[in-house]
Amino acid sequence: MNTYVSNRVLKINVGFLLAAGPGANHDSVFDVPTLKVAEDLTVDYVRGPIRLSRTAAGILVQGKLETGIAGECYRCLDDVTQNVTIPVEELYAYPASSTSEFSVHEDAVLDLAPLIRAEVMIASTNGILCREDCKGLCPECGTNLNHSTCNCTLDNIDPRLAGLKQFLK
Ligand SMILES: [Zn+2]
Ligand SMILES: [Zn+2]
Repeated sequence: MNTYVSNRVLKINVGFLLAAGPGANHDSVFDVPTLKVAEDLTVDYVRGPIRLSRTAAGILVQGKLETGIAGECYRCLDDVTQNVTIPVEELYAYPASSTSEFSVHEDAVLDLAPLIRAEVMIASTNGILCREDCKGLCPECGTNLNHSTCNCTLDNIDPRLAGLKQFLK
């Protein structure tokens, strides 16, 4: 499936806020399906509220976005979509400044794509998990322990249990 929404939806024209001056703000809610954020990142969805506030230094972006990252669970290798919550609090400088990581473009466009990409990269550096308590694969036989059990672990425990039985006698 190669259908996705262009990351153009993450480019917001903030001309009206720049013109309104410090103190003005604008609330919106994202609800975008499969979205290509960057060449190397497609997320399953982006949802959540975003507030844009005009400050003397530019536009402050605040919000809480939920995205779904598709990939392989690093423990059990199942295909999963992990929900990642991205708390957003970032100043987009205007006019652009060399000390600010993000800035509003000359044409008053604020592009959320680089910010979302950076946050998703941070959130997924440790790999994604199908669930918090994923049991992973058996290191001996490769059985996915979320779906079934194998005898390897039982074999490992048996001698100790045997010893314990001896002790109890
Ligand atoms: Zn897993
Ligand atoms: Zn096993």
